[in-house]
Amino acid sequence: MSYCVNCGVELDATASVCPLCQTPVCNPRCPVNREAPLPFPGNRQEVAPVSRKELALVLTTLMAAASASCGVMNLFFFFPSVAWSAYVTGALAMVWVWGILPLFMPKLAPYKRFVADLLATAAYVAIIAATVNGWQWYVQLALPIIALAGIIFGGYGIFIWNKHSLLSGSIAFIGCCAVFLLLLELLLDLWIHEAYQPGWSVVTCGVCVSLMLPLLVIRWRPALREEVRKRFHL
Ligand SMILES: [Zn+2]
Repeated sequence: MSYCVNCGVELDATASVCPLCQTPVCNPRCPVNREAPLPFPGNRQEVAPVSRKELALVLTTLMAAASASCGVMNLFFFFPSVAWSAYVTGALAMVWVWGILPLFMPKLAPYKRFVADLLATAAYVAIIAATVNGWQWYVQLALPIIALAGIIFGGYGIFIWNKHSLLSGSIAFIGCCAVFLLLLELLLDLWIHEAYQPGWSVVTCGVCVSLMLPLLVIRWRPALREEVRKRFHL
């Protein structure tokens, strides 16, 4: 048995150089055994990549089976008078659009995916509205909230599409959240009280601003920005 003269690691009998520091092995009392099998495979084998479409098909089948079994249970066994399986099926369909559709169509443009996600969300909320006969709140509250989220976070998507830094992206995201929450409370207040009574959204907005201010200072001071970049390995 040999040990590396440089780093001291124990060496396999077949090693002609140290695997850690590449120092040549020279031990006259124990020459390198070139006949013995190597302790590790000579050629690297790679695991075949998972086919996205196959994975998507398996997940789609699982979701369809779960949805169908819920439908059967709803129809014949559990609470047939309440269409609870519609919630499960609708939620699965929404998750399918969010997560599985991109696996089937990896080249779909991000803005089309975003629109599809919004439409899926609107459709799911419509299922809930239909089952509880809540078309009024759906049209006057749910749809405006979904449209608001679409406009604000769609705008954020366009902003980060232009390859801004992580810092600018974070500042923009926190700002978008603050604006969304302010307008969300406005919509909720107009629906519930028919008057705007600013409350919790002002608090969350204050938290967002207090997060954004130090980030903005770092963003506009090059020396600080470099320091942060070095410290956090960005
Ligand atoms: Zn070594």
